[in-house]
Amino acid sequence: MEKSFAESIQLASKLRKLNDDQLKILERVDEACQELYLPEFEHYIAHKYNEQTPEILKKHGLMGLTVSPEHGGAGADSLTWALALERFGQLGLGVVTFVDVHCLLASLAVEQWGSEFQKKKYLASAAKGERILAYGLTEPEAGSEPTSLKTSYEERDGGYVLTGTKYLISNGSVADSVIIFAYPKGKREGMSAFIVDTKSEGFSVAMHLEEKIGLFTSDTAMLEMSECNVPKENLLGQPGKGLHVAYSALLNGRIGIGSGCVGLIEDCLNSVTERAKSRVQHGKPIGKHQLIQRHIAQVAMNLEMARWPNYVAAVEKTRLDAEPKNLELRNKVDLQSAIAKRVASQLAYESADLAVQVFGGFGYSLLSPVAKHFCDARVARIYEGTDEIMELKIASLVLGKGFEAYS
Ligand SMILES: Cc1cc2nc3c(=O)[nH]c(=O)nc-3n(C[C@H](O)[C@H](O)[C@H](O)COP(=O)(O)OP(=O)(O)OC[C@H]3O[C@@H](n4cnc5c(N)ncnc54)[C@H](O)[C@@H]3O)c2cc1C
Repeated sequence: MEKSFAESIQLASKLRKLNDDQLKILERVDEACQELYLPEFEHYIAHKYNEQTPEILKKHGLMGLTVSPEHGGAGADSLTWALALERFGQLGLGVVTFVDVHCLLASLAVEQWGSEFQKKKYLASAAKGERILAYGLTEPEAGSEPTSLKTSYEERDGGYVLTGTKYLISNGSVADSVIIFAYPKGKREGMSAFIVDTKSEGFSVAMHLEEKIGLFTSDTAMLEMSECNVPKENLLGQPGKGLHVAYSALLNGRIGIGSGCVGLIEDCLNSVTERAKSRVQHGKPIGKHQLIQRHIAQVAMNLEMARWPNYVAAVEKTRLDAEPKNLELRNKVDLQSAIAKRVASQLAYESADLAVQVFGGFGYSLLSPVAKHFCDARVARIYEGTDEIMELKIASLVLGKGFEAYS
């Protein structure tokens, strides 16, 4: 097993002992990462979506990482999937984004809110790797404020008809099914969630977002629904309770992105350590120059500062899974996941910048092991809740009822 990942597992085990089943899942994750390393790098250089990610995950039985064994998945609990995301983060946020969206935002939402029919149909095939899932909340005019979304649904002929545009959707053009959030036509309340098959009539991919700053191996698309028919049984959760589905999914997703950022920092630390020992300037390895040592010390400190809030969030989330009705615990996990994501994404961004600095000119080349982290890290401060939205959430949860910055 990759050395820094084995160390992380040991550290996390101090918070909550991992059993053999959990360790076996993490071994599979490590094997999949070793196999993914080269294709991910090649696709990054070519600025292409890495279609081998789902294939390799499927081979290692990880498309159903978070899906319960009853529905054919690996059944990882929250701490185990958080550690898995940390390992994927060492490869880069492209892989993290795929796994976060398919396994955490979408599969876990179906696991938590889905009917038996939906679990049998969607989770079982997602876990087998026969179906890729996506999560469609954002719209051109509704990002940080999802309650302003314009996608609408109406009931017709015993089913639903959806119309609207979803924007910046990861896995959007490769997904077989997308969780779509919409209001009843003509209303601004009572949002509902639907599982929409991308082959449905009226559903199309309007645009691929290829001109991104980074995250080249992740698919990002704009999706269009024009009178798109959705069967009645594809309503996810209770009618009018779509925001619960959306926010509970984001809670999981934020721990996933935070964990991915921890892995990104680990990879930066591994890379700068190696480079500082091997690159010689002014007659000695650059790691013997004190200003380079300062950069290395900062990345090492960043790793520790990022890791702790993520492990705490993941462990508390595991407790919440056992007590889903405990509202006090839910608020705590909501707070902890926002802190974890906010802290880890900031530190990942700073660490990738320092790593490029230690690598010098080579660090500016995509052929170096650190440049992709520099290109990717920025997005973690935007998606699944921007820095500002995370800070407002943290403050309002600390201050308590009546101190929300917006309604
Ligand atoms: C590569 C990528 C992949 C993505 N994948 C998905 C996906 O799979 N599914 C999905 O649904 N979405 C996805 N998103 C969308 C992402 O979640 C949104 O971009 C994000 O939530 C921010 O929304 P916005 O872009 O509309 O920015 P805006 O909401 O327009 O925000 C612009 C700025 O204003 C700030 N701001 C907004 N409101 C406030 C406030 N009340 N107080 C202070 N500051 C505020 C923001 O923090 C930000 O700095 C993705 C985005 C990217 C870039």
